[in-house]
Amino acid sequence: MAKIIVLMGAQGAGKGTQAKRLAESLGIPIVATGDMLRATAEEDTPLGRQIRDIQAAGRLVSDSVMAEVVSRRTIRDDCIDGYILDGFPRTLPQARLLEEIAADQGHQICVIEISVPRELLLKRLAGRRTCSSCSTTYNIYFKPSKREGICDLDGKPLFKRSDDNEEAIAKRLALYEEMTLPLLDYYAELDYLHRVEGDAPPEEVSERIAEIVSAGEQRSAAEG
Ligand SMILES: [Zn+2]
Repeated sequence: MAKIIVLMGAQGAGKGTQAKRLAESLGIPIVATGDMLRATAEEDTPLGRQIRDIQAAGRLVSDSVMAEVVSRRTIRDDCIDGYILDGFPRTLPQARLLEEIAADQGHQICVIEISVPRELLLKRLAGRRTCSSCSTTYNIYFKPSKREGICDLDGKPLFKRSDDNEEAIAKRLALYEEMTLPLLDYYAELDYLHRVEGDAPPEEVSERIAEIVSAGEQRSAAEG
């Protein structure tokens, strides 16, 4: 059975990296709802117009509109063997709508949470420095430049994004936890939830995720 893989993880947990690796190794697309919303809003269709109106009014797109955007994107041929969702579901109603999409498509939902201790997330995010000239990124804790505040490649100064201060980051992480906790509970209850420790090197995290995805395949093959 093809899978809808829902990757969950706070900012700094390495979700983007893992989604990319997984998409490459499985040959399935990453369906990112932010990108899709932007693309759909540009279409000259009833749904496109609806989204433009909502955004023009400064309102948030409703759960059912989000689900329609996801559903329309994922009935395309490239999603037949499954896909990775990024940015959806974010709420319980969206999770229930995803169940309907999965049932319609005959896909199985597999949720993988990349769990990283908050201390480490803070260091990963607050320690980030970027070159003002070539955009190379460093981290003062994990990947420091040879000279403090100076890019190794071109000697230009490094800067820290203004939203990368500890207070702002802690706030974003707390908000994330508050938002996702109900979803994680919901998926744990349905037995869809798998947890991967994200404080290992990215290659190891990828291996663990691949194991989880393929273990589910063996089980459904044995059942069916
Ligand atoms: Zn540079």
